[in-house]
Amino acid sequence: MPAQLAFETQSTWYEAQANRPPIGEPLKEVVETETCIVGAGLAGLYLAKELSERNRPALIVEARRVGLGASGRHGGFCGPGWALEAEKIEKHVGLEQAKTLFDLSLEGFHMVQEVLDSGEALMTPGILHPSTYHNAEDLLKNRDKMAKEYGYEVDYLETDAVRTMLDTSRYYQAYRDPKAFHFDALKLCLTLAEVLQKMGVPVYENSGMKEFHKTSMGWELTTEQGSVRCKQLVFCCGGYGGREFAKLRRAFLPITTYVIVTPPLGEKLKKTIQTSDGVSDERRAGNYYRIVDGDRLLWGGDITAFGEVHPERISQKMGKDFVEVYPQLANDLGSVPVEYSWSGLMGYARHLMPEIGPLDQGLWACTSFGGHGANTAPIGARLIAEAICLESERWRLFEAFGFPWNGGPFGPYVVESVYRKMQLGDHWRAIRSRW
Ligand SMILES: Cc1cc2nc3c(=O)[nH]c(=O)nc-3n(C[C@H](O)[C@H](O)[C@H](O)COP(=O)(O)OP(=O)(O)OC[C@H]3O[C@@H](n4cnc5c(N)ncnc54)[C@H](O)[C@@H]3O)c2cc1C
Repeated sequence: MPAQLAFETQSTWYEAQANRPPIGEPLKEVVETETCIVGAGLAGLYLAKELSERNRPALIVEARRVGLGASGRHGGFCGPGWALEAEKIEKHVGLEQAKTLFDLSLEGFHMVQEVLDSGEALMTPGILHPSTYHNAEDLLKNRDKMAKEYGYEVDYLETDAVRTMLDTSRYYQAYRDPKAFHFDALKLCLTLAEVLQKMGVPVYENSGMKEFHKTSMGWELTTEQGSVRCKQLVFCCGGYGGREFAKLRRAFLPITTYVIVTPPLGEKLKKTIQTSDGVSDERRAGNYYRIVDGDRLLWGGDITAFGEVHPERISQKMGKDFVEVYPQLANDLGSVPVEYSWSGLMGYARHLMPEIGPLDQGLWACTSFGGHGANTAPIGARLIAEAICLESERWRLFEAFGFPWNGGPFGPYVVESVYRKMQLGDHWRAIRSRW
């Protein structure tokens, strides 16, 4: 079954905790507005907020429900940076523009903090990045470069200090970002939806865009039962966009990634992971995890271009790495106890940077934030709001990346082979460290 069809039926831990309002009426009439936003993930919700704060009319049409895409099911890690590593951004656009882009990513990070500060969703500070092989030299070099060139300070930890916090021999040195934090992904989306409701911004759920076309006024899109006429149309579809997005769909690939949450593990977990930090290992194809609900572990990772949606197979897939790192947390059968498992789609462009900018006159893309969208989708949204309000042309920072072809039918095979190669490299470095 294609991932797009099944993800709605997966039960996420976030949904189980959430207090969702009843489903609003879908769009059933012809409405006019200045800006129509397609998609109610972080990009769409923040864009509507930014426009509304500038007193500009906007509405959202969402195919399913607010935050049911990646934004309400992600790992909950938020820190500065982009899906593409800083050194690759530097290679592409030079150090000066890379620094400006880093500052933008930091601005997005603060946009999340600001909304969470005003609501009920808690932020737990601290993200630890342990290495799975001896890596002191690179970590120190990176720490110094971040401080000197980007003005951003992180801490360095020796292996002993890491192993005091995390009871596993898999990890060596680490760097720790004390300012980054983790939080409840869905709560942020629902908080934003509440803010929009108070501002009087319509959010039509179960109202997927079927088709769009140009008109003398600007654009018109149709949903199952209604249509929207607007001057500005913005696509915030993440990895969930289909053929209705025409040429934008040919510029990104939907990539699936996975999360599991254990049942309460009690003292066993507290002894094993003695930190409230989120942990994201330093491998290029690594795992991340954090304690939620006092004594459950939320564990995420792996990416596939041909998505798995079956909960049991997701549990098996994720369980292998989990048990290798923390065998003491396995059950009597030697596997991971799992209460929730789910998958989600991320939109990735070939260059791994977001696709932010005009597709046509009054038609915008604000998408493809990859696996680093918690902070970058909000700032992407701000840039589009600034462009619509003729406040700035900061979106031009992304012109250097553009909307390259996603590789068509070959794209998924390329992604799979690159990712498996990265996994092999990670594995090899870890093995060499143990010799
Ligand atoms: C499992 C998982 C874990 C992740 N972990 C992290 C993390 O820890 N930290 C981090 O920074 N990033 C993480 N990410 C990435 C991050 O979640 C995304 O980059 C970000 O949420 C993208 O936001 P978005 O608004 O662009 O897309 P989405 O949140 O996917 O929203 C797109 C919306 O568009 C809607 N849509 C699609 N087509 C239509 C249509 N035709 N009409 C109307 N609506 C439509 C969809 O239903 C969806 O609601 C993770 C992603 C996943 C899947």
